[in-house]
Amino acid sequence: MHPYQRLSQGPRVVPHLVKGQWRFEKGAHTVTSPYTGELMLELRSADRALVDEAVAGAAAGAKEWAQTPIKERTRLLFEVRQNILNRLEELRAVISYESGKTIAEAEAGVMKGVEVLEFALALQNLDQGGKMEVSRGVHCEVRRAPLGVVAGITPFNFPAMVPMWMMPIAIALGNAFVWKPSEKVPMTSQVLGECFTKAGLPPGVLTIVQGGVDAVNAIIDHPEVRAVGFVGSTPVARAVYSRTTLLGKRALCLGGAKNHIILMPDADPEIAAAGIADSFTGCAGQRCMAASVVLAVGKVDHILAKVAERASAHRPGETMGAIITRQQVDFLRGAIDRGVADGAKALVDGRTVKPLPGYENGNWLGPTILDGVKASSEAATKELFGPVLSVMRVASLDEALAVDDSSTFGNATSVFTSSGAIAEEVARRANSGMVGINIGVPVPREPFSFGGTYESKFGHGDITGPASLNFWSDLKKVTTKWTMPKDLNWMS
Ligand code: NAD
Repeated sequence: MHPYQRLSQGPRVVPHLVKGQWRFEKGAHTVTSPYTGELMLELRSADRALVDEAVAGAAAGAKEWAQTPIKERTRLLFEVRQNILNRLEELRAVISYESGKTIAEAEAGVMKGVEVLEFALALQNLDQGGKMEVSRGVHCEVRRAPLGVVAGITPFNFPAMVPMWMMPIAIALGNAFVWKPSEKVPMTSQVLGECFTKAGLPPGVLTIVQGGVDAVNAIIDHPEVRAVGFVGSTPVARAVYSRTTLLGKRALCLGGAKNHIILMPDADPEIAAAGIADSFTGCAGQRCMAASVVLAVGKVDHILAKVAERASAHRPGETMGAIITRQQVDFLRGAIDRGVADGAKALVDGRTVKPLPGYENGNWLGPTILDGVKASSEAATKELFGPVLSVMRVASLDEALAVDDSSTFGNATSVFTSSGAIAEEVARRANSGMVGINIGVPVPREPFSFGGTYESKFGHGDITGPASLNFWSDLKKVTTKWTMPKDLNWMS
């Protein structure tokens, strides 16, 4: 039995959070668990009228919040942190059951979100602005000013972590935040939202609207919304970026990925095998930092055999999670079929996986390794988003870097090697925003910012860390003179 099933008493209605009030409205949208296929929830997708009301509430909340000193804002966020830790067991059960992650992965995602929250709490000490006498008797000062109402649109695969990339920083900087969770995993938003509201956040500082495309478009179009952060697939990231920036607003939209791992013959076999296998099987391959293609340079079969052994040991439902939907399982199976028909060899074949008792109606696919994929094939170029690893054989590091360079994405590139010179070469020449050296999932930890390049990110800056601050705020410059200088100077 999944831990969530012990907590739940049947399908629930997932609410919106409008003007500080939870609004429970039953509707036509339903979601089933990737583990069991069981109906978990029903909700009413927000229409334009509901979004208008919610954003008006956020705009009212933003006025008061902007006048609240940062030390008072962060005091409330300390409470949010404690509330999250107090409800960790519930949070990880809900996240796991609705997104398909294992319990351990669900908890890790929450804790990574808590790290961002801790970064946001530290802003009161780190980000005081600056002041200087720029001319005799004249001072220039820079102050960080909130934007007002900002929004975040988030994907299914990290129901708590990705929203936590945005909410704590945007809120600590004095904005009111409107969150539109993925309609595939909306239950987490209620638990996480309660952690914020129970800390005493004024009404409207956090608003949650449930729904899909219509809700997103209504949020973008609302005149009070000044900035939109988005994380999801590349086609949607591009569409959200275009719509938002056409309205003259700022947007930062993170998209999909096709991450390369360059495997050199001098790599430590244990470190490389664990790094690669864990990267493509973790979260059942449903993360934007997952290893997708191994660029196998020269004689590395002894390492690939270890990758295959480690991946084969997984038991989906126990050590590896489920796939988000039945359609996605069908798509992944089709991609494996097409890869094999195109000449690749299945070193490990996840199509034959047997579900655990109790999980027969869930969405399952075991780890799969396709060896010998062709450079132009779907398995080598398209984001599949599942536990499928493609191996491309290349003759040299230069050839591997050329393949990496040809990708339209630019999220992550890793290298496994024992040579510092090769590692430096990859760090310098890889086009991705995040590079790993003997690391399979090179996610920067706080205070380092997270973000890719090319079609993995539309917009400037990064979504977390110092590079996110100028996205969620304006820099106001104040120039002051209180005395008449004796001598004229150019600011007199
Ligand atoms: P998705 O693009 O389908 O959905 C993301 C969000 O956009 C959801 O809230 C959804 O309701 C909304 N949406 C969907 N279609 C829309 C449309 N036509 N117009 C406006 N909004 C729309 O993504 P997903 O399937 O939930 O998540 C998986 C994807 O997210 C993968 O491609 C993955 O690589 C990517 N991802 C990227 C990062 C990153 O940091 N780059 C992190 C996590 C996930």
